[in-house]
Amino acid sequence: MNITDKKVAEINATVAEYIGTEETQCQCEKCQNMCKTAPCLCTPFDVINLIEKGYKDSFIPTVWAAGLQVGLPVIDMVQLKYEHGKCVMFKDGKCSINEHKPLEGRLADCKKSSAEDYNGKTPAVTVAMMWTSPVFNLLINDIFKKII
Ligand code: SF4
Ligand code: SF4
Repeated sequence: MNITDKKVAEINATVAEYIGTEETQCQCEKCQNMCKTAPCLCTPFDVINLIEKGYKDSFIPTVWAAGLQVGLPVIDMVQLKYEHGKCVMFKDGKCSINEHKPLEGRLADCKKSSAEDYNGKTPAVTVAMMWTSPVFNLLINDIFKKII
């Protein structure tokens, strides 16, 4: 399945509108420190696009359990690796895939702190829930086949 940058941009814009926010263009040390805490979450479209761009080895099958705090289930997904105390894409003090930055990172805004700031759904929850959507089943199965 070929997912182009244009398709990813369309998906990103749709999600941003859904949660009532815009992509942030800023870059500062605070956000860079977050790259050392955990990789930002990729949508299935981010993952397949980055695999097609040659970053397959940067991904790993994982589970997202952060939603347990708000009553969401543990979700199976494929995400960027966390290695040596940082996201695998954090190199020389910056995001090495900034042009293709995963959607959670694009939508994160330090001026917004709660779900209420995002139409009730944070970027992390919105991206995570995409991995449970039957609409994306074929794509998600394809991703797991490529990674496992
Ligand atoms: S969202 Fe906030 S923390 Fe992140 S780069 Fe922009 S100003 Fe810095
Ligand atoms: S993908 Fe880029 S912005 Fe996201 S955590 Fe990794 S280095 Fe940071």
